[in-house]
Amino acid sequence: MPTVYLVIPCYNEEAVLPETVKRLEEKLSAMIESGRADKASRMLLVDDGSRDKTWELIARFCDEKPLVSGIKLAHNRGHQNALLAGLMTARKYADCAISLDADLQDDIDVIDKFVDKFTQGCDVVYGVRNKRETDTFFKRATAQGFYKFMKVLGVDIVYNHADYRLMSRRALDALSEYRETNLFLRGIVPLIGYRHDYVYYDRHERFAGESKYPLKKMLSFAIDGITSFSVKPLRLISSLGILVSFLSVIGLLYALIAHFSGNTVSGWTAIVCSIWLLGGIQLLCLGVVGGYIGKIYSEVKARPRYLIEEFKK
Ligand code: UDP
Ligand code: MG
Repeated sequence: MPTVYLVIPCYNEEAVLPETVKRLEEKLSAMIESGRADKASRMLLVDDGSRDKTWELIARFCDEKPLVSGIKLAHNRGHQNALLAGLMTARKYADCAISLDADLQDDIDVIDKFVDKFTQGCDVVYGVRNKRETDTFFKRATAQGFYKFMKVLGVDIVYNHADYRLMSRRALDALSEYRETNLFLRGIVPLIGYRHDYVYYDRHERFAGESKYPLKKMLSFAIDGITSFSVKPLRLISSLGILVSFLSVIGLLYALIAHFSGNTVSGWTAIVCSIWLLGGIQLLCLGVVGGYIGKIYSEVKARPRYLIEEFKK
C-alpha cells in the first residue's frame, strides 16, 4: 500500500480551509480504510506567506487532526514555488504525492483513480479537465489560446491540465534535478518523461473565497511559461534580420533607379539605402547575439541532461 501525500498550496485561503480539510480528511480516511493508501498518508498544507489567518488555521488542524501536516513559507513565493516546497518535503515521506488547489475546484473523487494508476506502475498521472463550463468565457479562451500557443513554440505541455497531478517519489527525485528558479511545473513534468497516464475529471466552481490568480498574475505566469521553455522568440530575430536585409536589397535597387531617373532630392538615395541595409544588418547581428544568449540561458538552467528510466542487470 502506498503512502500518499496530498500537497495543497494555500494563499489567503481562510475562507475555504476548514471545509477543504474536512473533505480531504474524509477522503483520506476512506482510502486508508479501503486499503488503497497506507495509514502514514497525509495532507500537507503549504502556507504561501498568507496575510490572513491561514497559518493559524493550519497550525490548529495539525494539532487536532492526525492526518494533517503543515509547512509555512516565510514569504509569498507564488503558487508554483509553494507547490514545489510541498512536493520536495513530501518526497521524503511519501511513495507518491498528489498536488491540488485549496479551493477543491478539481474533483477529489478521482484521487482513487490517480492512486490506482500509480499502483499499476505509472510515475506521473495528469488530471485533465473534460470541459471548462465553470470558467468564465474570458478565462477559458485565454487559457486554451495559451496551450495552443505553447504548442506552436514547441513546448510540450498537456492540454487542459493544470497542476492537479500525481507524481511518484522517483518522479519527484527527477524533478528535484531541475534547478531553475523561474518555475513552470507544467512544462517541466512532461520533460521528465517516465511512464505516465491521464485521468479525466470535471472542474467545479470555487466554493468560497476569491481566485488568487488575478489577470496580472495569470499574464506573468504565461510569460514565464514561454520564456522558461522556448528560445524561439530569440530565433525569430535572426529570421526578421534576414527578411529585412532581403527587402533592403530591393529597396536599394528601387532607390538607385529613382536616383538615375533623376526624380529624387540629392542625398535621399544614400540615406534610404543606409537605413535599410543597416537595419537589416543590425537585426541579423542581434539574432547572432540572441543565439548565444539562448545557449547561456539553457546552460544556466543546468537541467539534467538525462534521466535513467530503467536499468536491467
Ligand atoms: N496560491 C498560492 N500562492 C499564490 C497564489 C495562489 O499558493 O500566490 C494557491 C491558492 O491558494 C490555490 C491555488 O494556488 O490553492 C490556485 O489558486 P486559485 O484557485 O485562486 O486559482 P484559479 O483556480 O482561479 O486559477
Ligand atoms: Mg481555483
